Amino acid sequence: MIDLRSDTLTRPTEAMRAAMARAEVGDDVYGEDPTVLALEERVAGLFGHEAALFTPTGSMANVLAVGSLVAPGQEVLCEASAHIARAELGAHGAIGGITMRTWTHPRGRAELATISSMFAPDMGPFFVRTAAVSVENTHNFAGGAVLPLGELQELKDWAVGVGAGVHLDGARIWNAHVATGVPLAEYGAIASVLSVCLSKGLGAPVGSLMVGSRDAVAEARVRRKRMGGGMRQVGILAAAGLHALDHHVDRLADDHAHARLLAEACGLDPATVDTNIVVVERSDAPAFVAAAAEHGVRVATVGPTAVRMVTHLDVSRADAERAAAALAEL
Ligand SMILES: *Cc1c(COP(=O)(O)O)cnc(C)c1O
Repeated sequence: MIDLRSDTLTRPTEAMRAAMARAEVGDDVYGEDPTVLALEERVAGLFGHEAALFTPTGSMANVLAVGSLVAPGQEVLCEASAHIARAELGAHGAIGGITMRTWTHPRGRAELATISSMFAPDMGPFFVRTAAVSVENTHNFAGGAVLPLGELQELKDWAVGVGAGVHLDGARIWNAHVATGVPLAEYGAIASVLSVCLSKGLGAPVGSLMVGSRDAVAEARVRRKRMGGGMRQVGILAAAGLHALDHHVDRLADDHAHARLLAEACGLDPATVDTNIVVVERSDAPAFVAAAAEHGVRVATVGPTAVRMVTHLDVSRADAERAAAALAEL
């Protein structure tokens, strides 16, 4: 079976397991795990921010990050199919007391004209106050689309001027970086606070980080513990993340090439596939998923008529070619 349901399905390599086994550890709730501290410092530095916080999931990193910008009773603006809106099971409302207002764009774009027209910083005791804008890069449900850097810079400049925060859901910012060559620090610069995942294409078994200012991260450390996310000798997991940063970033280009193979097999223009995710519109989506499974390829629906396939570390060139042949037949 070639499993294209998600890039979270990767299993740690032997070399990653060896790095985990020899990790130096301490109690991270006491701030004494040297491997976690090294990972946090390294990731903060990559994005040009002051500090970072290791979290068990990207969802928790997002809740902490958005919560650092938006108080209970305020709103964040985001695209309608953003992960924070669709796939975090209402956490921002249930935990953060935050509401969302959304715009829609088929490629997940963050166009300033749309966003500025929705912005409501202070309309007295009548309307919810907008505190922040959230963007997702790459955009998962828009098929791994990369948001243009210029558009994000324009958004950030505007946000600074009007006093709004910018949250970047950078679960797959590594893919955007490899696809475009834009330095991670330039993506970091468009955000007040961001989240990044180690457990997607980078192939770590667990782990994400919230990245931001020293103050925002210090506050998030308290809120992480409150949510039950204070972890102890978690350097074992941070070591997997450090190993992934050393060995699994550049190779994402292979995943992108494999995704273009799959797109072509499905009759899409491969030039529309920016990174490692292909979303195919099929009126018979559930039947298509079942038929693909019979051909040895696992794919998943992400909407009533949307089928998603994701390439990753555990899908070799030969696997991608075999999957493409099977999908072309379907
Ligand atoms: C996977 C993902 C996350 C985090 O998901 P977890 O499963 O909670 O780690 C956040 N944002 C995007 C866009 C994602 O794809």
